[in-house]
Amino acid sequence: MSATILDGKSLSEEMRAELAEQAAEFIQDSGIVPCLAAVLVGDDPASQIYVRNKQKACDRMGIESKLHRLPEDTSMEELLTVVNRLNRDDSVHGILVQLPLPEGLDETRILRAISPMKDVDALHPENVGLIVQNRPRFLPCTPSGVQQMLLRRNIPIAGSHVVVVGRSDIVGKPMGIMLMQRGRGGDATVTVCHSRTKNLAEVCRTADILIVAIGRAKFITADMVKPGATVIDVGMNRTDEGLFGDVDFEAVKEVAGAITPVPGGVGLLTITMLLQNTLTAARLQLTS
Ligand code: NAP
Repeated sequence: MSATILDGKSLSEEMRAELAEQAAEFIQDSGIVPCLAAVLVGDDPASQIYVRNKQKACDRMGIESKLHRLPEDTSMEELLTVVNRLNRDDSVHGILVQLPLPEGLDETRILRAISPMKDVDALHPENVGLIVQNRPRFLPCTPSGVQQMLLRRNIPIAGSHVVVVGRSDIVGKPMGIMLMQRGRGGDATVTVCHSRTKNLAEVCRTADILIVAIGRAKFITADMVKPGATVIDVGMNRTDEGLFGDVDFEAVKEVAGAITPVPGGVGLLTITMLLQNTLTAARLQLTS
């Protein structure tokens, strides 16, 4: 039997409608329009698309967005100056530096320079620490979108065995941490796999929920999935044949109980959670 398709489009529409109401209420009560500032360095085509989509989503939500475009040969000092200016600007609530940065720019240093109160990607060490301690200020956008998908589509998390494939700072690592925390949306037993994992297929087959974020088109095949499991595909791989996830969707959907498609799955939720974080940032700065 074919799996239930976990449709990211309808879920993100549902969540954005809720968010639009919350944003309108916030603007009416405070007189403040939440504002997201994006910093884009260089001309990476994928990064340009991502930033444009984030701006469009802000516009539709009544959230202001500002774009700071810097040339490929921007120096660390110049980039730090822009970030510091945005940190001091009271009309800016969220700051997003689009990754990856061109070679020669120190990502870790830039991410640390963003004010933790405006760090809507949740990559500043202070915010990562708060996530680990289960008292998050912001949740990282992609893992948070995945968690909302599981919660809102009634996929049982507590007590389930979750296998996360990929251990990046932006997806795999925080995803594993969030799902193992005590409380709602957590309480899972989590295994995190990576390129050095032995018997990956065997480990994947033990998952009730399999979350894949590795950046390899159609890497997860049907024989790596337990019948009835939930499969969440975070991968976005642009190939000559089109955009593919990390999961071989056509074959795996015949084995899984539920599965996210690519496109139309997790990607849309990531932007939705960014909007959520921008509103949270505006609220926090109003009360701090
Ligand atoms: P990343 O930084 O590229 O890291 C890839 C991870 O996958 C690493 O931990 C790596 O292991 C692991 N890996 C690579 N090959 C593997 C293999 N053969 N077997 C097991 N593990 C393997 O990853 P990322 O930034 O999280 O991105 C992953 C994918 O998600 C990409 O396609 C990206 O475009 C997509 N993505 C989508 C969204 C969205 O909104 N939908 C957001 C972010 C990322 P090692 O650590 O051992 O090297």
